[in-house]
Amino acid sequence: AAENVKPSNVAKIKVVVRKRPLNKKEIAKHEEDIIDTVSNSLTVHETKLKVDLTQYVEKHEFVFDAVLDEEVTNDEVYRETVEPIVPIIFQRTKATCFAYGQTGSGKTYTMKPLPLKASRDILRLMHQTYRNQGFQLFVSFFEIYGGKLFDLLNDRKKLCMREDGKQQVCIVGLQEYRVSDVETIKELIEQGNATRSTGTTGANEESSRSHAILQLAIKRSVDGNVSKPLRVVGKLSFIDLAGSERGADTTDNDKQTRIEGAEINKSLLALKECIRALDNDQGHIPFRGSKLTEVLRDSFVGDSRTVMISCISPSSGSCEHTLNTLRYADRVK
Ligand code: ADP
Ligand code: MG
Repeated sequence: AAENVKPSNVAKIKVVVRKRPLNKKEIAKHEEDIIDTVSNSLTVHETKLKVDLTQYVEKHEFVFDAVLDEEVTNDEVYRETVEPIVPIIFQRTKATCFAYGQTGSGKTYTMKPLPLKASRDILRLMHQTYRNQGFQLFVSFFEIYGGKLFDLLNDRKKLCMREDGKQQVCIVGLQEYRVSDVETIKELIEQGNATRSTGTTGANEESSRSHAILQLAIKRSVDGNVSKPLRVVGKLSFIDLAGSERGADTTDNDKQTRIEGAEINKSLLALKECIRALDNDQGHIPFRGSKLTEVLRDSFVGDSRTVMISCISPSSGSCEHTLNTLRYADRVK
């Protein structure tokens, strides 16, 4: 039963790779699937040219906690990544699930259903295992764009962050909705996704430059006494990261693009360093490297869990980005 799941039995860091199928555009361009998967390992077949312009294939092998191929459904992704964490959220654990990868690799496709599936399980636990124990579920959803915070459940209202000195992060003015049914959560998630940065150049283009953060918080009054204020017991954060290739936009002709690229690059590097520090149980975790890691500060201290889902395209045309994504995941592991 869920109450018997001990936090110590759930891995502190889990790194999973998800490969999506080739899409129509890639097939039309005669691009090939260059990724082989066997159990929890994967091989990238990179075609290179010799000086005399003859081709040869270089193989790159990687091993992760799990490799999910193009046949794997969103349900199976949930079971592999977030489901094991849900019960320990009731036991003072904070957990974060990231989707990392280049734009178009499947981050949003992968991430979107996860909070809904998790809240379904959280509500079930609240109604069964933890019945009448005063737990409440709250949802918030915001994005970090160019180093600034915007509320996705409140018309992209600009937000600021404050630390309370006890390593608790407070995002001033962030709307939090108390939810008690899955239908309401579904509506909030859809509303938030529709509110993500769309700018003038089209939806996917702009959303690829922002990190979207959806948080599920479980709260309870002190000692279960309803007249006392609510306190956060555990938290589960879902982060649809900016497109990893955007971090390279630091030499673009457009100044705004350069600034955003530099911020994304900084945040993805800082994130990697924070997760590595967690794994080594180092006292010092370099949160201050970026807005993203500062916001997630309270999810990195204490008893925390991290799941990284690295999304990759199978296509020969994405080989370089895919290798970058896999090398990043390999460093985090
Ligand atoms: P990203 O958020 O990384 O930019 P998306 O999640 O928007 O990428 O995915 C790009 C496209 O590929 C979308 O049309 C999405 O539906 C499709 N896609 C991604 N992953 C899969 C998958 N595993 N199976 C089928 N289609 C997928
Ligand atoms: Mg996306």
